[in-house]
Amino acid sequence: MDLLTLGKQFEVIHFSCRHSGRRLIKHCHFARNDPNHQCFGAWSVKREWISANQICHACGQQGVVRRATEQQQLVQIRL
Ligand SMILES: [Zn+2]
Repeated sequence: MDLLTLGKQFEVIHFSCRHSGRRLIKHCHFARNDPNHQCFGAWSVKREWISANQICHACGQQGVVRRATEQQQLVQIRL
C-alpha cells in the first residue's frame, strides 16, 4: 500500500498578509477508524495555493479587535 495515501493530507494556503497556513483536508486511514482520530502517519501536502484576498486567522483576529476599538471610539464621540 502507498504510504502517502495512509497519511494525513493537507493544503498550504499563502494569505495576502504574507503568512501561510496549513489546513487539514483529509484524515488518514487509521484516524478515520480510530475513535480518537489519532494518527501517527506522515503528513503530505496535497495542494498549495495562494489566496490573494484572504488574510490568515491571526491577522483576521487583529482586524476584528481594531474594528471593535474604532466602534468604541465612535460611540464615545457620540456621547
Ligand atoms: Zn497573517
